[in-house]
Amino acid sequence: MIPITVVDVRDAEDLVVEVLRSGAIAQGPMVKRFEEAFARVSGTKHAVAVNNGTTALVASLQVLDLKPGDEVVTSPFTFVATLNAILEAGATVRFADISRDDFAIDPDKVAAAIGPRTKVLMPVHLYGQTADMGKLAPLAAEHGLHLVEDSAQAVGASFQSRRAGSYGLGCFSLYATKNITTAEGGVITTDDDTLADRLRVLRNQGMRARYQYEVAGHNYRMTDLHAAVGIPQLEKLDELTSARQRNAARLTEGLAGTVGLELPAVLPGREHVWHQYTVLVGPHAMLSRDELAAALTERGIGNGIYYPKVVFDYDCYRNHPLIPEVSVDDVPVAKAVAEQALSLPVHPALSESDVDTIIATVREVLGA
Ligand SMILES: *Cc1c(COP(=O)(O)O)cnc(C)c1O
Repeated sequence: MIPITVVDVRDAEDLVVEVLRSGAIAQGPMVKRFEEAFARVSGTKHAVAVNNGTTALVASLQVLDLKPGDEVVTSPFTFVATLNAILEAGATVRFADISRDDFAIDPDKVAAAIGPRTKVLMPVHLYGQTADMGKLAPLAAEHGLHLVEDSAQAVGASFQSRRAGSYGLGCFSLYATKNITTAEGGVITTDDDTLADRLRVLRNQGMRARYQYEVAGHNYRMTDLHAAVGIPQLEKLDELTSARQRNAARLTEGLAGTVGLELPAVLPGREHVWHQYTVLVGPHAMLSRDELAAALTERGIGNGIYYPKVVFDYDCYRNHPLIPEVSVDDVPVAKAVAEQALSLPVHPALSESDVDTIIATVREVLGA
């Protein structure tokens, strides 16, 4: 069996034991160390650690002082946390369709979705490649919008040498299966001193100094135990990313020309960190996407469907007061991609022969 993800945090043992022995296990010096390392990796002045990636998104919106009725434009093709975070923050959600090239919001569709109440642009850097920041950042600036980047899947990715999460408020997830993990965890990156300060106060009950409350805050803190799990991975992020990139290149070489399969592209000027290697199974393939997924599972090749439906296409979001009338037909690219996307293993624990087995199995079941 070749799994779709492997979680390997064995190298954190010494640091975790150090925290356990210290008796100081909640937010403390290890979180600070993690934040410093993360800021270096993301090329930002600040990194603020929180308890998960969803919280990172919620907190980012909360420090932007949105008013009821203010709108966030985001992607309809994402993990549900993106949508839930916007709703939790009380903002109204507008969706802009994605591009089939990078699976992220299409700048032309974003331009059309911006209205008088739009305050935030929230692109999602899906599968490890950034959205088209060359167009989205100027668009946000032109309309006076805040940029909040859902960078949960894109730690280490870059667009024209600028790292994901360095264009605005960068929101990262450190969930078990993400490229860097602390089991559960999140980080917000920014170059803005004021926003970083507000985030630090907000995450700790709105408290500046002991019992001095500045805002109605929350407990969004990460623990030193969790930070200790992540530090060794940050130290070898380049190595982990290179392994993903090597695996992706080998998959692309081996799967090229398979009838009906559209392979993921690395777009010019972008560094892809391959959180997922996602193919599109088109109408000319011998099997449908779901049949291919089943055939691979049966043969011991792990795979995943990220994501099977457009994010708002569930009963709990229909007629939601913060989601103005929207239909899947308004986002035809996202709808088609949700029907065709299938992710194959690309993680650093794969051997070359694992990758070759994946290629041979996909080709065999597709009769190619
Ligand atoms: C994982 C993920 C999140 C949420 O992160 P959690 O740490 O699980 O809360 C948000 N957005 C995207 C795109 C994700 O993949």
